[in-house]
Amino acid sequence: MSKKRIVRLKLRKVKRVEQPPEPTNEMSYDMQRGVSYSRLQSFLACRQKCKYECQGWKRIESKESLTFGGLFHFVLEQLYEHVKGERPSQRLHQQMVKNLPDLLEGWLEDARADAFKRGGDGKMIERCEALVAGFMPAYVRFHSTDFTRRKWIGAEKEFRVNFKGFWLFGYRDGMFEEDGKLDVLETKTKAAISVDLNDAVGFDAQNLMYALATEIELHPRRVHQVLYNVIRKPQWRMDKLTDAQIEQRALKESSKDPKGFFVRYPVVIRRKNLIRFKHELEQKLIDFQAWLNGELPTYRNEGACITKWSCPFIRVCATGSFLGYDRRK
Ligand code: SF4
Repeated sequence: MSKKRIVRLKLRKVKRVEQPPEPTNEMSYDMQRGVSYSRLQSFLACRQKCKYECQGWKRIESKESLTFGGLFHFVLEQLYEHVKGERPSQRLHQQMVKNLPDLLEGWLEDARADAFKRGGDGKMIERCEALVAGFMPAYVRFHSTDFTRRKWIGAEKEFRVNFKGFWLFGYRDGMFEEDGKLDVLETKTKAAISVDLNDAVGFDAQNLMYALATEIELHPRRVHQVLYNVIRKPQWRMDKLTDAQIEQRALKESSKDPKGFFVRYPVVIRRKNLIRFKHELEQKLIDFQAWLNGELPTYRNEGACITKWSCPFIRVCATGSFLGYDRRK
């Protein structure tokens, strides 16, 4: 190949810039599949955001907090599946503490494969995996009542139930019985634990929606409480540490101060809250369906762009370009 041609080819290569994907008017939300809590929350927070989500847009980069949350949820699902149906006892707890290292190895391997399948960043997945591996022994020791008092009847599972003609769907993190009462587990990983969280979870719409869905599914049983299970993800700079150092630090600090990493809020489901929630949920679903049918307008709610976290579509609203996003069905 002549020198000139090589130079031309190189220039062409340098000049090629990534083209942003085309905007679309197509909406791909299936009401028959069901309305999830998060989609309804987006609709209430900002219809523009909800529209982007219903069109299937997602930001390509994966955030460390999401990767950590995904891995922790995956491992907890295996943990509660493992003890599902077992009679709670001190012995069960001791067995779990003893067998955890071996079990964890396999669970983390599966969790890693799952995170890769979702398109996560390799280095980030390994760092988060080390963090989860370091936290789990302290989690199992600290939450001993999960094995000594609670009988697990369900691990993470999808639900889809009919409520007043609408399908509700979501993923329940766990379900157990304690003193003959039915409880639901909801796990959240958070960077910080707010002092107001205790009040906020008392009438949290997701807790009420999951309690309602469980009662519809298991009619005529009633949900006594939602156990809101928070895991704090530390804000350490992990990129300078090896995976072994991350795991060691997580193990040491969570064993020394488990209360600083694992906090639970038992939220008793009050009938008056649930009755009010049902009325409001029906109204919200009617509005959501009308909006999907084009009977209600779409507008931005600029007050929702930056709250505790920035809206994932802030770059799209600022630039009008979908560069860095892709569409999934
Ligand atoms: S950036 Fe603000 S206006 Fe734009 S979609 Fe998000 S919340 Fe709505």
